[in-house]
Amino acid sequence: MKILVVNSGSSSLKYQLFDMKTETRLAKGLVERIGCGGPKDHAAALAQVVADLGDAAKDIDAIGHRILHGGEVFTDSALMTKANMAKAKKLVKFGPLHMPANLGGVEACERIFKGVPNVGVFDTAFHIATMPDCAGMYAIDPKYYKKYGIRKYGFHGTSHKFITQAAAKFLKKPVAKVNLVTCHLGNGSSLAAIRNGGVVDTTMGLTPLAGLVMGTRCGDIDAAAVLSIMETEKKSPAEMDTLLNKKSGLLALTGSSDCRDICAMAARGEKKAELALEMLAYRTALYIGAYNTVVGGADAIIMTGGIGENSGEVRERIVKRLAALGIKLDKKANKVRGEVKVISAKGSKIPVVVIPTNEELMIARDTVRVLGNRKV
Ligand code: AMP
Repeated sequence: MKILVVNSGSSSLKYQLFDMKTETRLAKGLVERIGCGGPKDHAAALAQVVADLGDAAKDIDAIGHRILHGGEVFTDSALMTKANMAKAKKLVKFGPLHMPANLGGVEACERIFKGVPNVGVFDTAFHIATMPDCAGMYAIDPKYYKKYGIRKYGFHGTSHKFITQAAAKFLKKPVAKVNLVTCHLGNGSSLAAIRNGGVVDTTMGLTPLAGLVMGTRCGDIDAAAVLSIMETEKKSPAEMDTLLNKKSGLLALTGSSDCRDICAMAARGEKKAELALEMLAYRTALYIGAYNTVVGGADAIIMTGGIGENSGEVRERIVKRLAALGIKLDKKANKVRGEVKVISAKGSKIPVVVIPTNEELMIARDTVRVLGNRKV
C-alpha cells in the first residue's frame, strides 16, 4: 500500500511517500513559497509534487494530511468526507493561519488525485480522546467553554502517539497498559502524561503557547502579566500574540531560538544563555515530576524532538533535577544522538529513554488504519 503524507502549511507544503508493506520512505520533498493560502496555491504546489514524484505518483492508495486542530469533534484520525470537511471548516477559528492551509491541501488533493481517499490526522486528537475534564478545563466561567470552546486541547498529539506506541514496544508492554511521561522537546515543546496508553494531561492548551519554555514561545505565564504589558504598552491582542508566540522564549532570553547556539553561548560562559537553559530544564523537570504523579508512576520517561533526540547537554540538565524520583544519568549513554537508547544509569527507578519521533510515519499508519476500518 502506497501512502502519501501531506503537511500543507501556510507558506510551504511538505510531503513524504511511504510503502506501508515495509514502512519504508520512497520519497520526500518540500514545495516552498506557495503564497497566502488559497486552494489554487495548494493545487499548484501539489502539481509540483506530482511532477517531482513522476511515475511514483500514479498508484497512490491514500493520502494522509496533518491537520492542526480537531477541536472536540475529532477524537481520532478520520476520512475527510464532505461531512467531515464541513465539520473541520468550523474549527478554523482555532487555527486561523494553519487550518485554511491544511484544509486547502485536502481540497487540492481531491482535485488532483481523483478518487484517492484523504484522511485527516489531527494534532489534538490523541489528547482530546482521553484527557479528563479535571485536566482539560480552565477555572473560568464555564460559559466560555460552552460558547467558544475555550479549554485545553494540546498539540504534537501525533508525535506523542508515535512515541507512546514505540515506547510500549520498547518496554515490551501492551500499549493499553503503558504509563509514560513523553517529552517532545524541539522548537515547539510539550509534555504528555500517558496513563494506560492514553493522554491524561499535556502542557499545551487552547493553543500551543502554554507549558514549557520554547524557541520563541514563553510557555506558562501569569495571565495578569500579559494584561499588564498590554495595558502599559497599549498593545493590541494581535501584537501581544506576536510578542508571546514569536518573540519570547529562548529567543527573548538569549537573542537566538536555536538550542545549539544557546548551548555554545553557555559553554562560553554567557550568563543569559546559562539562565535560559536552566529555565528550560527546570520547567521540564517540574512537569515530569507532576506527570509522574498523575500517571500513577511512569514505566519510563521518553525524550524526543530536535532537542530531546540530540542535545545531551539539555537532557543532562533535566535529568539532574530528577534525583528525587530515583533517577540518575548514564553520562556515556547520554552522548546518543537520534537513536533509541536508555540514558538513565542502571538501578534508576524509572528509565529515561531517547526515542526519535516520526510524525509522518504515524500519519501514514493512521491513514492505513482509518481506511481499514472504513465501511464499504
Ligand atoms: P525540532 O523543532 O524538533 O526540529 O527541533 C529544533 C530544535 O532542536 C532547535 O532548537 C535545535 O537547536 C535543536 N537541536 C537539533 N540538534 C541539536 C543538537 N545537536 N544539540 C542541541 N540542540 C539541537
